[in-house]
Amino acid sequence: MAAKRPGRVRLERVLILLLIPLLLAGTAYRLLRRKPETTPVLTAEVIEEEESGYITYAVTLDDVHGIPVNHVFIPYDSSRRPGEIREIRFLIIHETDNRSPGADAEAHSRFLTGDTADITSWHYTVDDHSIYHNLPDNEIAWNAGDNRSRDGGNMNGIGIEMCVNVSGDFDQTVRNTAWLCAELLQAYRLTPDDVYLHRDFMGKICPHRLITENKVTWFMELIQADYDELQAAAAEAEANAETEE
Ligand SMILES: [Zn+2]
Repeated sequence: MAAKRPGRVRLERVLILLLIPLLLAGTAYRLLRRKPETTPVLTAEVIEEEESGYITYAVTLDDVHGIPVNHVFIPYDSSRRPGEIREIRFLIIHETDNRSPGADAEAHSRFLTGDTADITSWHYTVDDHSIYHNLPDNEIAWNAGDNRSRDGGNMNGIGIEMCVNVSGDFDQTVRNTAWLCAELLQAYRLTPDDVYLHRDFMGKICPHRLITENKVTWFMELIQADYDELQAAAAEAEANAETEE
């Protein structure tokens, strides 16, 4: 065969030259279409703490009475995370109602942080040996079933789910939850009177086992005792700090 015909070479060059702008345009299009960095939407960036007496910042608890707290936050772009800052006025207690052997706090954390179109969310899940924290306490979560009621559960509560997996020790889960509640009450300057059950916000029998096994009073007494212990320790620490001054 003879050498390449000059006409053919020119055609290839023209095609390559045509291709370059097309590739550049494609890259530019992809860059422009890319989702912007998502940041939380702040409904009230500055809510005057002095005005209402409630706190709007979030604390990070590393462990609660020896129980490790794992912080694995739901991504900002998840439908479960509205990312709206609000005041922290009370705690709301739930149960997962999932008795599967593997349905512990870690499994629920994976469920909450996974890819989904669902909007249900809460802040903490507690089992008999661990606590998972999936949303900062000062952000709204959809767990009370009362939409955006101004003084309602979703807008003001920290949602806490207790695991009821058959492989877990439910009474220990209740004890662990009581300690978490006491720590949160102290951190946000609330009192044991600020602990509500999901049932208080809607007709649902939740937390189901706690209610049907008549353990609500015991649970509330545990919270009171743990809270009193934390308050006493804080008062003692304060007194010691004063004598050292
Ligand atoms: Zn519930």
